[in-house]
Formats: sequence, C-alpha cells, structure tokens
Amino acid sequence: MAEFERETDVVIAGAGAAGLAAAIKAADGGATVALLEASSTFRQGSNTSMSTSMIPVGGSRWQEEIGIDGDSPDILYQDIMTKTKGSADPVLARALVDVGRDLSEFLANDCEVPLELLTDAVFPGHTHKRHLCVHDRAGRTLHRHLLEAAEKRSNITMVVPLRLVDLIEIDDGWEVKAESPDGTNQEIITGSVVLATNGFGANAERVARHIPEVVDGLYFGGDHSLGDALEIGERLGADVGFLDAYQGHGSVATPHGVLITWTAMMNGAFLVNACGKRFGDETTGYSEFAVKVIAQPEAQAWMIYDKAVHEKALPFADYQQMVESGGIRWVEDVAGLASLIGCDEAAISATLEGIANFGSGTAVDPLGRTLWPHELESPFTAIKVTGALFHTQGGLRVNEHANVLREGKSIPGLYAAGGAATGISGNGASGYLSGNGLLGALGLGYLAGKAIGHG
Ligand SMILES: Cc1cc2nc3c(=O)[nH]c(=O)nc-3n(C[C@H](O)[C@H](O)[C@H](O)COP(=O)(O)OP(=O)(O)OC[C@H]3O[C@@H](n4cnc5c(N)ncnc54)[C@H](O)[C@@H]3O)c2cc1C
Repeated sequence: MAEFERETDVVIAGAGAAGLAAAIKAADGGATVALLEASSTFRQGSNTSMSTSMIPVGGSRWQEEIGIDGDSPDILYQDIMTKTKGSADPVLARALVDVGRDLSEFLANDCEVPLELLTDAVFPGHTHKRHLCVHDRAGRTLHRHLLEAAEKRSNITMVVPLRLVDLIEIDDGWEVKAESPDGTNQEIITGSVVLATNGFGANAERVARHIPEVVDGLYFGGDHSLGDALEIGERLGADVGFLDAYQGHGSVATPHGVLITWTAMMNGAFLVNACGKRFGDETTGYSEFAVKVIAQPEAQAWMIYDKAVHEKALPFADYQQMVESGGIRWVEDVAGLASLIGCDEAAISATLEGIANFGSGTAVDPLGRTLWPHELESPFTAIKVTGALFHTQGGLRVNEHANVLREGKSIPGLYAAGGAATGISGNGASGYLSGNGLLGALGLGYLAGKAIGHG
C-alpha cells in the first residue's frame, strides 16, 4: 500500500463529493493534500456515486442561457427556509446558496464536469428549474469527473483503502491516525483536516438512536456511512446538531432496488397502497414519503403512471436500468392495473376516477394535491416501491467556512463537509429539499478547500 508523506498541509478523509471538492480546491490554492478513502468500492458505493447528481443553484448561467431569469440565491434561500419551516441553520443555508454560482463554475471549469440544467420537472419545494446535473443524471458520472480532476493534480496524494480512525490536537495542527483493512497503521502530521466521511446511515445503532422512525425501512445509501466523523467529533467535544434529520425516499422499486425518480410524480404519477388507495399528496416531497410508504401494509406501495410520464423519467440512468431489467410492465386497462397490484378492480377504478376529477377541477383532492399535469392514458404501469433512508442530514456543526465548532467557536484547522456536517434540512425528513445533499457536500467541500488553500 502507498504511504503518505508524514507531513502534509491537509488530510481529507472521504473521497465523495465533499472530499473531492475540498481536495481539488485546496490543491489549486497551493496546498499539499493527503486524501484517505476507506472503501475500495467507493466508485460505486459512496453516496455521491449512488446519487442522481442534482445540484440546486439559484441564478446560474445555465438558467440564464435558456431564459430563466427570475431565480437567485435569495430565492433558493427562501425555498430552503419554507421547506424547513424556518428551522434550517440560517448561517449555513446562506453560505451554501451564496457559494452556488462560484461552485458551479468551479465544477464546470476547474473540474471539467459537463453540467447541464435539468428541465424534466420542478422538484417539490423548489420554485424554479434550477438543478444542475450530468447528462445521464448518474452520480457515478459526476463522481468519475471529480476523481479524474483530483488525479490530474500532482499535489493530491490519494490512498485507498485507508480509514481515518482518530485525530489528536497538537501544536499548530493535528496528528491523524489512519488504519488499512489489514491492520496497518499510519500517522500523518498536518495543519488541517477535512472530515468528509458522510453521515451515519449505515450505522444501525445510531439510526435507531437518532431516527427511530426509519429504522424498519430499507437503507439505500453507502455502506461506509458509519458515522466516523461524528464519533471523532464527539470525542473532541465538537458541537453536533440536527441528528434526527435525514433524506428519505418513497419510491425505491422493490425487489429491484432501483430508485424511480420523483420526476415521474411531478409529471403525473401517483402512489396507492395494496388496497388501491392513495395515502398522501405526493408533490409535497419524496423525503417525507419514506415513512408514509413504510406505514402502508407490508411497507409497500405502487406507483402508477402512463407513457407520457415514462418519457419524462427516461433521461435518468437509474430509470433506464429499471426499463432494461424488464421491471416495467404495461397494461391496457384498470383490470390490468388491479391484476398487477393484486387489489380490487373497483378500488383502483375509483382512485383513477377521483384523479380525473381533481385534474379537471370538478373535485378537490382531499389529500391536498393540486398538480395533475395531464389525465393518465392507457397503457398504464404500476411499480411496487418501498420507503428508504438515503442519508442522514445531521452531524458536526460548522460555520460559513466549513470550520467545525466547539462551544460555538471554530476549532482551528478542523473542517467538515457533506454528510459529516449538519445539513440545511432542519429536523426530521420533511425539510429535505431536493439537492440539499450534494449542495452541502460540494458547497462545504469547496468552502473548506478555499479556506485551507487560501484562494
Ligand atoms: C440513491 C441516492 C440518490 C441521491 N441523489 C441526490 C441528488 O440527486 N442530489 C443531492 O443533492 N443529493 C442526492 N443524494 C444525497 C447525496 O448523495 C449525498 O448527500 C452526498 O453524496 C454526500 O456526499 P459526501 O461526500 O458527504 O458522502 P459520500 O459520497 O458518501 O462520500 C463519503 C466517503 O467517505 C468514505 N469514508 C467513510 N468513512 C471514512 C473514514 N473514516 N476514512 C476515510 N474515508 C471514509 C466513504 O467510503 C465514502 O467514499 C442521493 C443519495 C442517494 C443514496
């Protein structure tokens, strides 16, 4: 296994979006960077690689290019505060919306990530089409571009697999203790450390303690999200917060284990339970729908839609995987839908009739949904889905430079980014606005790298 220089300007733990953004920005500012990655399968198994690559930026040049000129960081900030009912950390939310434009230019120009504006849907809680993404909406593509950018920098040394296990405060910096799977230990002396090891979604004991409502749901995130940053931060007396916050999702196809994009829902799809009945306003957000789906019989629901919705979902690589695996079956009528779901035909017929009335305005949805873009037309499909925990949104408290706090004051040379830090999603699941995850990862990583590299 390769060894690091025993002394380096910064040690970064975790090579997901947060760690890679921090590494590249710090390296471009002149710092020597040691990047530790614990998992040998991180190219497929980090949360970044599993994501759909959607990054919300208010007032980006990509919006301007297609004539969306009413958006801005201030409006994104308001959307975050509205979704969290004002409970998101205002300093962090402000820092992340304000860094969005610089971050997007950094990704496009310095990291050579081919970004485009996602126009398939306006996601729940967002007032504008503002998500940047890669063409196939696949996090592994975003991750690959970031890795390639890091590999081009000669002042970044990366070692995989090597896990940061402890930090000791010393004069003017840190002694970093790291361990490889064969038990070999390394110690590195450094001025700064960035904890970018994501949250604790894969740590069942922590999830049961902090987020008991999803403990029975599927976990659909990276298997090295074990809460290492939180454990180490707590040992150092760092401030922690929002430990009950998380991103859930209400449409992971089962048994396929494939994410069905909520773009479908925003374009007219809806969910029913095994009795053929809807159980909520699907347009409020996918995160809060995880527990709603888990609460249904057998923790399952069925997502129903037509070919027009299908077309809107096709640009997503995950969805294409579902199509290619033969997981989508089309039926001609209500009887076919009832047969797919295994429910009473009269029940699904009543649900469809109700939806037609809500869409035409002759009735009001008692569940509150008002977005019915078109009346669904045969053929239909129904996909069995379950609710899942994707990643946690609580962690180490940081300031606007991603500096970790202790009793409200920054700890010199210690930074946290992405799932290792607190997010901007308030408490629970319902404050998660689509894209908060990667914005916190890339945004805080960028800010940490900028502070460390002086520029
Ligand atoms: C299916 C899915 C879809 C998603 N889609 C989106 C989306 O479209 N937009 C969005 O904003 N968010 C999305 N998210 C959330 C988003 O993926 C995460 O918020 C983001 O990727 C977190 O980045 P990170 O760098 O903090 O963590 P990760 O990408 O998980 O990287 C952390 C890395 O640290 C490594 N590590 C862990 N412990 C140690 C240690 N002690 N030492 C060294 N290395 C360690 C891990 O192996 C991992 O490679 C999605 C999540 C999932 C699961």
